[in-house]
Amino acid sequence: MPKKVLIIDDSTVLRNIIVFNLKKAGYEIAEAEDGLDALEKMSHFSPDIMILDLMMPKLDGFGVLREKAKMEGFKDTPTIVLTAKGGEDDRENALSLGAIDVLTKPFSPKQLLDCVKKVVGDAV
Ligand SMILES: [Mg+2]
Repeated sequence: MPKKVLIIDDSTVLRNIIVFNLKKAGYEIAEAEDGLDALEKMSHFSPDIMILDLMMPKLDGFGVLREKAKMEGFKDTPTIVLTAKGGEDDRENALSLGAIDVLTKPFSPKQLLDCVKKVVGDAV
């Protein structure tokens, strides 16, 4: 069974790049375009891992981390957070809210893939 990855980012361009690369690596993918969309997709898709942007409309990435922590079925779902350059506080805040790792934009497809593999326990 391929591992399931939920990609949460309001940038269609970035989502498309991530989807392309993770599909190519054999992962099953679902996408969400904001934080509220993410909470809804989580219950339908039951991801093994999530990739979460911080700056998003409706509910930002911090809000998703806070809500997720309260959700019994999802509080342990590992989440890789994507931050903008220069957001050192964002990194600390995301980690303190339970993010398992933080990637700073721009990152290479290989960086992201290695990070996902490491988190789900696939060989890098
Ligand atoms: Mg964004």
